[in-house]
Amino acid sequence: MSQEKRKVKKDAWAAPKESPKFLWMSGNKVEWEKATVHASTLGWSAISMVFEGIRGYWNPEAEQLRIFQLDAHLERLMRSMKVMRMSSPWSVQELAADIVDLVRSNEFKEDVYIQPTAYFGETTPGYLAAKEQPGEIAVFNRAAASVLGAGNVISLGVSSWTRISDNVMPPRVKAITNYQNSRYVADESTRHGYDFGIILNQQGKVSEISYACIYIIRDGVAITPPVTAGILESITRDIVKGLLENELGIPVLERDVDRTELYIADEVFICGTGAEIQAAGSIDGYTVGDGGVGPIVSDLEQLFHDIVRGRNERFVDMSTEVY
Ligand SMILES: *Cc1c(COP(=O)(O)O)cnc(C)c1O
Repeated sequence: MSQEKRKVKKDAWAAPKESPKFLWMSGNKVEWEKATVHASTLGWSAISMVFEGIRGYWNPEAEQLRIFQLDAHLERLMRSMKVMRMSSPWSVQELAADIVDLVRSNEFKEDVYIQPTAYFGETTPGYLAAKEQPGEIAVFNRAAASVLGAGNVISLGVSSWTRISDNVMPPRVKAITNYQNSRYVADESTRHGYDFGIILNQQGKVSEISYACIYIIRDGVAITPPVTAGILESITRDIVKGLLENELGIPVLERDVDRTELYIADEVFICGTGAEIQAAGSIDGYTVGDGGVGPIVSDLEQLFHDIVRGRNERFVDMSTEVY
């Protein structure tokens, strides 16, 4: 392949030029270059691979790095592994301590993204794993700047693809293979000029964004599809629900959302660890509200931003200090 063809567009999700010094693999901190698996496991190990995406936020005033909702993510990893009939050789407490140690060793002084992956190793081909067996875990981490506070306004489009369902590929399991569904959606929405695509479930109701969850706000009430709508049970979605209800006094309903409700909502936003909180300015070309960041989303994003950076004393327990 020519050098020209190898060039790919870099975005926030592209791997940074410099790798961190260490990753964590099967119980040990390993130098990045030395963490290898055999090529024969390519593909097959991904069949039953589950993962997590976790963010750490750097606070420049306090020179502090804090990992947001570390235990909640690791507990969800264990639940995803359970459905894959994969037992974990490490407890949530052991993994949490080792992840803090890993991030500390890489000496980040910026926002980071941490990705634990659990898979059947070389001795257990993923396609044969039909009864419970122990999995392997590897944890990667890299710099990943936050978009919070940037005033991002995104465009959304309803995708022609349908969400996978619980009896096909359970969406509540954070499985690598489920991302094929998200990838079709992302490909279509990018070709159509949208930032993200909205996926409808097999009942034709709104499910989620390719890699995030969705809330709409109508007449002062926040509405989000229920956990039975084909969504990934998002930790951010739960945190946001608590903040809306308890801090901003906005009632939250978990109920089915119709496609045309998206078009007439006062505000719409997406949420997730990767996406954080971003306001939608348009959906299928219909302007949402006045097309900018609405008042409730603005307050929510500011509150969330202060919490994740450890600037709000009342919520410091939501994150784990690295240094
Ligand atoms: C991870 C993920 C989300 C967001 O979940 P968080 O726990 O908030 O990070 C939403 N949708 C999909 C498909 C995901 O994989």
